[in-house]
Order: sequence, then C-alpha cells, then structure tokens
Amino acid sequence: MKRSRPVRLFVAALLTLVAALAIHERLGAFQAEAPRTSGGIQQRDAQKADDPWNFADEDEAVPSWTEDFKDQALDLTMFAAFATLALTGFFKKSELLKWITMGIAVVYLGFARSQLITIVNIFGLTQWNLPVFRHNMTWYLFAIFTVVSTILWGRLYCGRVCAFGAMTQLLDKIVPAGLRFEVPRGIDRRASYIKYGLLGATVLYFLVTKDISIYRYVEPFWMFSLQATTGMWLGLGVLLLATVFVRNLYCRFLCPVGAFLGLLSNLTVFRIKRWSECNTCKICEKACEWGAIRGPKIVASECVRCDDCERLYMDKKKCPHWLIIKKKAQARSS
Ligand code: SF4
Ligand code: SF4
Ligand code: SF4
Repeated sequence: MKRSRPVRLFVAALLTLVAALAIHERLGAFQAEAPRTSGGIQQRDAQKADDPWNFADEDEAVPSWTEDFKDQALDLTMFAAFATLALTGFFKKSELLKWITMGIAVVYLGFARSQLITIVNIFGLTQWNLPVFRHNMTWYLFAIFTVVSTILWGRLYCGRVCAFGAMTQLLDKIVPAGLRFEVPRGIDRRASYIKYGLLGATVLYFLVTKDISIYRYVEPFWMFSLQATTGMWLGLGVLLLATVFVRNLYCRFLCPVGAFLGLLSNLTVFRIKRWSECNTCKICEKACEWGAIRGPKIVASECVRCDDCERLYMDKKKCPHWLIIKKKAQARSS
C-alpha cells in the first residue's frame, strides 16, 4: 500500500515512543525474570531453585487460588483490554487502530512482558507439558485468544498481536519505498515453504534431543528480554537489516510459529469475501504485502488478516465490483 507522509510521521513518532517506553520499562524492572515467553518458570520457582536443600519452609503459607488470581488480575485486565482493542480495530477495519494495537504490542507485550507465542510453546504441546494454570492465567488467556482467533478469522495474531511482527511492520512504514526489493512472485511462493521446513526440523530436533535452547537460533523473540550473546545480537542486526530491503522477511519465509499458525489457519471459519470480479482483477493481489493472494485465491495460511484487501473490497472508488455497478446504474438512468 502507498505510504502517505502523515502515516510515516505517525509511525516514526510511535516508534520513538516505543523505544522510550521500552527503555523506561526495562530500567524500572531491573530484576532478573524467567522468560515468560515459555509461559513457564515463575519467580517463585526460581526462588526455590536457589535453595539447594529444598527443605520445606514451615513459615511459608501456600497462596490460595484467590490470592493467585489477585496477583494476576492486573495482567489479565491489561491483556483483555489489549485483545478488545485488537478485535475492535479488526472489525472496524480501522488502519489507525491497527497501528495503535501494533505499537502497544511492541511496548507492552514485547518489551514490558515478553509475552509472545514461541516455538517453546509448540515443544511443550508435543509433550503435553503446559504451564501450571493457576500461576499462568494470563498466558492461558493469551494462548486461547491466539488459537481461537486463528480458527475463527485466520492469523490475526501475526497481523497485529505478535510483538516482533508488529515491530517489523512498524519499521516497514518508515523505510523509504525506494529501498524495497520486491521478491518475484515465483520465488516468494517457494520461499514461503521454508518456514514449514524449519518448523518440522526444529520440532524433530527437540523430540530427539529434548534440547529447548534451539529456540534462540530459530526465532528472535528473546530480543525483548534485552538479554543475549553478542553473536545473537549480530544475527538479529543482519535479520533486521535484511528486513529493511525485503518486507516482512522473517514472518513470510522463516518463522516456525507463523508456519504453525499457518497450518492452523487452514481451519479458518470466517474467510475473506471475494467478488466474482476478483477472478480477473489484480488490484488486491498487488496490494497484499504478504504474498497471500494468488490470482482469485487467498491463501489462508499466508494471510495475516491485515485488512488491506478488505478495505479495497469495500472501496467504492477503487474496487471494480462497485465501479461496474455504478456504471450500470448510470447507463440505466441516462
Ligand atoms: S510470523 Fe512469526 S514473527 Fe511474524 S508475526 Fe507471526 S509469529 Fe510473529
Ligand atoms: S479490488 Fe475489488 S475486484 Fe479487485 S481484487 Fe480487490 S476486491 Fe476483488
Ligand atoms: S492483503 Fe488481504 S490477503 Fe493479504 S494479508 Fe492482508 S488481509 Fe490477507
């Protein structure tokens, strides 16, 4: 889609805000915390691990369910509010709300909470080794939202909730269009299968070795914890630099989680509507930044429900479907 100057300025301001808030958040929360991306190890468990004798602490009262719920109430409310915003933007097809949602996804879900669906969750699923519910209610709300929204509408998670995807989409808005390299359709189509190969190979590696640390090399979501080796930061730098030239590079071609959600989205119930004119019209195919429209067909596994083609579908000034209706009406009245 063509980028207007106000949109660029808005996104640049949003990114500056994102960076400022992220730094502030990190400075404020300068305590070691286990990666929430796996939804697993909580601080209480980490404290237990510090005690090599593992003696029962007689003074320690076991928290009740109500106390656990109260502890997580703020997080639950924040995520419920975020999910409401994401869905409102989606149903209203509002571009502004979509960008605001993505800005919040980067700051809140990314840098503040490190809350993303990750390959580690897929590993956990293969072993049915899921986080303890009472200590991870927000993670369950987040995971259920992701799965249910994918089954109902498609990869909504990738289109506006995933912090890394949101960050690269925001980045894309401020990169000058002249730097962009458009991947030829044939290569784009073939390259989109790489992520499925990576998903299969990574899960197989995990099943054979039980080594979860492989996640560091197949996904960059650790970046939100701001803790990594120099080599990992260098790799991320290369990836982001390549993303400047090839739009949504990681998401379209490499992300195993995207591949997993792509497979799931084959079950999508409410799909994007098409007009009969879409059989020959190429407007939406050219506008789709995810390579998800191939001729008259929308490939559900590649579509992230970004709304671009749906806005065109409803655009009475651009979509040939409406232009033909208008022409016919004018012909009848003249
Ligand atoms: S493809 Fe991967 S990185 Fe991209 S938005 Fe989806 S889950 Fe996030
Ligand atoms: S612009 Fe209208 S007719 Fe053309 S592909 Fe999009 S929805 Fe279909
Ligand atoms: S333009 Fe349409 S087909 Fe392409 S990703 Fe967005 S919603 Fe999906």
